[in-house]
Amino acid sequence: MHHESMTVPGQCPRCSEQCEQDSVDVGVGVIYGPWGCTSCAWSENEAYDGAFGGGVQEDGSYLDPMGGLYPAASPIAQFIRAGG
Ligand SMILES: [Zn+2]
Repeated sequence: MHHESMTVPGQCPRCSEQCEQDSVDVGVGVIYGPWGCTSCAWSENEAYDGAFGGGVQEDGSYLDPMGGLYPAASPIAQFIRAGG
């Protein structure tokens, strides 16, 4: 399967929805994580893309398209495993 690259800033190349990205303020500036789409699980980083390395992991944890990892016992991971 081909991994799409973002061509329009902020817009998902797979479903055209608005994408999100996490940011962390490190004091001297803000570091942004990869763009991710909460509609179709596309991620700028193939490792987080729901169609590739992201989504529900073997241990039951959930890796979201923005690179966030939710432990298997977390409500979000349980919700996703239950079918969203
Ligand atoms: Zn999308």
